[in-house]
This record gives sequence, C-alpha cells and structure tokens, in this order.
Amino acid sequence: MLLARLKKIRIAVSILFFLFTAVLFLDFKSYIPITAHKYILYVQFVPSLLKFVNVLSIAAAGFIFIIILTLLFGRVYCSTICPLGTLQDIAIYITRKFRKKKKNRFRYLRPQNLLRYSLLALAVIPVLFGSMFVLDLLDPYSNFGKINSNLLRPVLVFLNNSAAYTLESFKNYSLYPFELRTISLLGAGFSVLFLAFVLWMSVAKGRLYCNSVCPVGTLLGLISRFSIFKIAIDQTKCKGCGICERTCKSGCIDNKTRSVDFSRCVSCFNCFNVCPSEGLTYEKPSKEKETVDLKETDTKKREFIFKTSAYLVGLSGLAFMQQKKVIKSYKKNSVPTFKQNPLTPPGSRGIDHFTSTCTACHLCVSACPAQVLQPAYLEYGLRGMMQPHMDYMTSFCQYECTICTDVCPNGAILPLTLETKKLTQLGKVKFVKDDCIVKTENTDCGACSEHCPTKAVNMVPYKGKLSIPEVKDEYCIGCGACEYACPARPYKAIYVEGNPKHLIAKKPEVKKIDQKVDYKEDFPF
Ligand code: SF4
Ligand code: SF4
Repeated sequence: MLLARLKKIRIAVSILFFLFTAVLFLDFKSYIPITAHKYILYVQFVPSLLKFVNVLSIAAAGFIFIIILTLLFGRVYCSTICPLGTLQDIAIYITRKFRKKKKNRFRYLRPQNLLRYSLLALAVIPVLFGSMFVLDLLDPYSNFGKINSNLLRPVLVFLNNSAAYTLESFKNYSLYPFELRTISLLGAGFSVLFLAFVLWMSVAKGRLYCNSVCPVGTLLGLISRFSIFKIAIDQTKCKGCGICERTCKSGCIDNKTRSVDFSRCVSCFNCFNVCPSEGLTYEKPSKEKETVDLKETDTKKREFIFKTSAYLVGLSGLAFMQQKKVIKSYKKNSVPTFKQNPLTPPGSRGIDHFTSTCTACHLCVSACPAQVLQPAYLEYGLRGMMQPHMDYMTSFCQYECTICTDVCPNGAILPLTLETKKLTQLGKVKFVKDDCIVKTENTDCGACSEHCPTKAVNMVPYKGKLSIPEVKDEYCIGCGACEYACPARPYKAIYVEGNPKHLIAKKPEVKKIDQKVDYKEDFPF
C-alpha cells in the first residue's frame, strides 16, 4: 500500500520543484524575493557542489543532502528535484496521451556504460583544469535554466506586452509592458537544439538522456549502487508477466533475468503501481549479491575513466589555448578599439574564477534588472561560451544593485554587500579622443560624465566653450554607464577594458556643496 503511494508523493514533489525553479527564471517583473532563490536552488546538485567548493560552507552543502538521499533511497534527485527530469516526464506523459497504444511501451535497454562513464569523465576532468565547457553543455539544471531564460522568458515577455497594449487600448492599465533589450541568439539556438534532443530522447526511449548523457545521473547512478533501499524483483512472487519492464521509463528492468539495474533506476516508482502480484520490493538487498555487483562495477568504472583521461587532458589544453587568445571587440571604428579582456559580473573576482565556476544556467541573466548580463560568444574563448559577460552595448551595471551576487547558486558570482560592490572595479575606463563627437563634430556632449556614478569621467575645458571628457581610472568601477551612454557612432569614444582580476577602486570624493543662503531675502514668488 505504502509502495503504491510513493508514486503520488514523487509526482507532487517533482511538480513543486519544477514550478518553483522555472518561476525563478521567468520572473521578469521580480515578484519573487531574492532570498527565495537560495532556498529553492539549495539542493540542485552541480550548483551546490560548486558553491561548496567555492565558499566551503555547510550553508552551501545541498549536494551532501542529495548524496545521503541517494545512499538511502536511490536516484530520487532525478525523479523529484531535477527540473529537467520532470520536463522529460511531462513530455513522456503528454505523448502517451496522444498515442494509440497508450500504455506499457518501454522495454529493457542495455546500459550504455562506455558512453555514460566517458561523458562523466569528459564533464568532470576539465573542471579540475579550470574548464566548465562540457559540464555547461550537459548539466541538467543549467540547461533547464537556459531553456527558460532564453526561450520561455522572451515568449512570456511578448505575451505580457501584447496583453498590456491590448488592455491599454481599453484604458485598463493593470499590466505594464516590459522592455526586453536583447535576445541571445546563441543561447536561444543552443536551447532549441538541446530541448529538441532531450524531448526526442524522452519520447522515444524514456529517461535515456538521464542514463546515458547526464553526468549528474551517471554520478548518482554510481552512488545508488550503495543505496540501502533498492527496488528488486521478488522471485517468489513475480509471475513474469513483464508489465513492470514495459512501464519502466529508465529501461532498467530486465524481465528475462528478473533483475533491476538500480544504477539506472530513477526511483520514479511507476513499477510498483502496475505489478499485479506485488512482485517488486523496495528494501535492502542481500549482502552476498551486493558484493559481487560492486566488484564488477568498480573494475568497469576505473577502466572507463582511465581510457578517456588522455583525451581529456588534450581537451583541457585546447580550452587553455582559447583563453589565451586576445578577445577583440566586435565594434569597428576609424580609430579601432580592442577590448583585451571581457568584463565579468561583480562578485565574480575575475575571469579565471568566473569561467572555471559558472555553469551558464543564466539565472543571473534572467535576474539582472539592467539586462547587462548577456551570454558570451567567444569573449572568454571557447571554454566560456554562453557564460554571461557584461555587455555594455546592451546596457550597463546599475550602481545600487547587487542582485546577480545574491542569486548565483554556485559561487561563480559571490555575495557582495552594496558598499563593497560600489568599490569593486570590474574594469577601467578608456577614452579615445579622436572618436569623441566633441572633437569630430565640434559639438557639446558630456553624456559619459553625466552617467558616471563615481565621477571617474569629468568634463574639462577644450576649445572655446566646449568641454571634453577626462578620465581618472582609479575611481572607475567599470560599470559601463559611460560606454553605454556614449552617442559616438559607429564606435564608442569611451569604453571599459576588463580587469582580468577585479580590483578595488578609489572611493569617490564627496564634495560639499558650499552654498550660502540669504534667509533675510524675501521668497521670490
Ligand atoms: S549588479 Fe549589475 S550586473 Fe549584477 S544584477 Fe545588478 S545591474 Fe545586473
Ligand atoms: S554566474 Fe549566472 S549563469 Fe553562471 S552559474 Fe551563476 S547564475 Fe548561473
């Protein structure tokens, strides 16, 4: 009876995690309090593990909770907490509704061990060398984030704006439009391909992605071999009807041998509800059998990891070479400007820390109210593709904001107080006088100085009544307000060069306004 209830509990919990996680990425009007992010994402495996490594705090140890859960009950992370897993279940459920033969269409699949352990090694080993590239492409939470942030969010904004304009024509102002500054073609393109790939796999073969591609699934599969409670077939009660095999979306029940490959079982508990003879158990298996299984597993695991190591070292080298490449600005000019280094978000410490920790989930991209964080193409080199960078063509970093430092779940962007953030120097301002319209057009401007929050850019006398910018880069925090505001076209006359490692800027001087007021004078009106 209790076993039959497990499926219902699993569905309820998975829907809650799925909705809460999706809402974090889709909340473009910032209704969700920032503190909610850390509670909702606490148990996401990869972000939690990375954050723990970065901050070494038990407050970031959600992955330990997942490991304990896996050691007790198997891969419940895959069936309840992972939003990509639930997305696949939804796809499987919907397609089943539209199929003529609605039920029991799965069958036992041979484990793709070479593939899954190779992909796990491919994802993990480069991380040790500072490259997140493969992990970024495969991590389920981050890909779910990219799908929401790059595909669903723009659709939602479009629907919101259409509804707002329609209501406005009826003089109803209950909705207001939201300005979406840009859509990342790379992020959207990758998300479409990834989504199509995962949906195709799940519709055709159930949880094949989780059991052959996903590094988290593979890692938890290794851990689940040691689980206390395991689903197994009770040989005395099983009548061999095979209905559990045809129901298992993980393809891990083999009716011929009456065995369950628990490393691939995602603990969905669907099999309990279909067995007509209570032939399935969920308990601690006998010790003898366990010992034999584990020995086999360990030998295979070592073999796969060893075979792929040489290739992985080569891959890391490639990523390192890419990082060394000078990153050119895509802006062209009669006086060309080249950004040597991209700008990373406040709290990210610098390029190395950021690119070796960010999993490109795009939560910060979604949460940034200024929309200055945009997925990179090759600004960080190949290894940082799709990781966010500060794009001052799109926007600039708001002086009074620390949102990205609060939402990042994996420590790529570490928390900063507002005071510290206001002095964190992401980069330094550069001025190209020959591109400035004060010189080229002989006209007044000063947009850069006007927008600079620290007065690192000041206007000084130039010709006649004209004044021209002068920069004091020690005061610059690299927020990009000047670069964004600069009207010079097609090239910006003022731009920010990234600091590979963030520095501390000089505190802006606060000048007292010395204004004498003659209180005796009559009020002028
Ligand atoms: S601190 Fe800057 S980059 Fe970060 S969320 Fe705020 S405006 Fe965006
Ligand atoms: S920096 Fe942004 S994209 Fe990268 S892991 Fe943190 S929230 Fe996700």
